[in-house]
Amino acid sequence: MRYCTRCVYPANHPLGLTFDEEGVCSGCRIHEEKDQLPWAERFEALRAIVESYRDRTGRHFDCIVPVSGARDSHFMVHTVKRELGLNPLLVSYNRQYNTRVGIRNLAYLRTSLDCDHMSQSPSPALLRRILRFTLNEAGSIYWHILAGATVFPVQVAVRLKIPLIIWGAHQGVDQVGMFSHLDEVEMTRKYRKDHDVLGLEAEDLAVASGIPIGDLEPFRYPSNEEIASVGVRGIYLNNYIRWDAKAQHEQMIATYGYESAPQTRTFNTYEDVDCVHYSGLHDWLKLLRYGFGKVSDHASREVRLRRLTREQAIDLVAQYQDVPPADLDRFVGWSGISREDVLAAVERQRNAAVWTRDSGTWRLGDAVTAHRGDAGVEAVRLGVVEPCDYRVTPSREPGVPDDRYITIGRGYVDAAPAQGVVPL
Ligand SMILES: [Zn+2]
Repeated sequence: MRYCTRCVYPANHPLGLTFDEEGVCSGCRIHEEKDQLPWAERFEALRAIVESYRDRTGRHFDCIVPVSGARDSHFMVHTVKRELGLNPLLVSYNRQYNTRVGIRNLAYLRTSLDCDHMSQSPSPALLRRILRFTLNEAGSIYWHILAGATVFPVQVAVRLKIPLIIWGAHQGVDQVGMFSHLDEVEMTRKYRKDHDVLGLEAEDLAVASGIPIGDLEPFRYPSNEEIASVGVRGIYLNNYIRWDAKAQHEQMIATYGYESAPQTRTFNTYEDVDCVHYSGLHDWLKLLRYGFGKVSDHASREVRLRRLTREQAIDLVAQYQDVPPADLDRFVGWSGISREDVLAAVERQRNAAVWTRDSGTWRLGDAVTAHRGDAGVEAVRLGVVEPCDYRVTPSREPGVPDDRYITIGRGYVDAAPAQGVVPL
């Protein structure tokens, strides 16, 4: 396996990577733009774009911001409301695999930033039917979340005639450098189908699974005609703001009391704290399929942002990558699928191109740990300029264990600010 000489990404990254003559991946090269582009100017370009969508009557929302109980949500809403002065409608797809931390973060988000919020919660029975199919046939326990979270904002945009959707980071730009920031890539049906929903649209799922298409309405992307009739457009903040998720989360912790939480399979305690399975079984499936997990995404990003050396990043991958998921029993209990069937479906995802069997034990055929001393690493090394010190914040609901599913939580909190939180 070829690995980047700067970060820890392998050549088989599912979003696609290219390598230059120095062995540096496209994700690392495009990331260099973060230190080259005139970000103050770019933010003004963002202002100019959103200005034409501002509602002058005061009767309508200016834009839609898709949110969750974690990752970038506070920063996005803070930017849209406080920096750009827009009146956003927040929308979220209820992933069901909610943690208490995530429920609290979402409640504090809508309370402290004082926003209207709509959510979509498909019935648990339907989700179990979908899950049974996508786990067995596509090796995914996340299809309904990926599909629902990318469809619901567009459905609301069409239904309420709010043409502008503002997203956070485009992963094709931030992870793999598929596009330059200057391409100002926007939301498309095709990228979503190819990269977000495993090539499986609701219509495909209906045909393959026998679930009536009428039941799959929460996952049906609006037609081109519907989208065109409203002029729906989705833009990404990371094309206009120098994206640094760690710094942004720390700003949100300090300003609004955003809660972080320990994660099973990564050192990043900030991003996916709202989900029982993201850093567990879901990430384990990714490891079996591609030979790397979320910790490689996080470590590569920190190398690019000059908080880790490549060697420290490899150490973190070695520390977390093989940690077994701790959420299997909870998944079995919720899904109604037997433990044996779940394990069999999970095991079917193991990719023979990246795994080998050695004395009865599976191991990665060519892990990044074997690539510490690759030729060319020194020539493209970035210096480390600050520590990679992810923190775990105190619970805002101390004494309440986060040990079970919460499908629908209380959607608001009493308005008193948390200790240490700067009042608005
Ligand atoms: Zn790289």
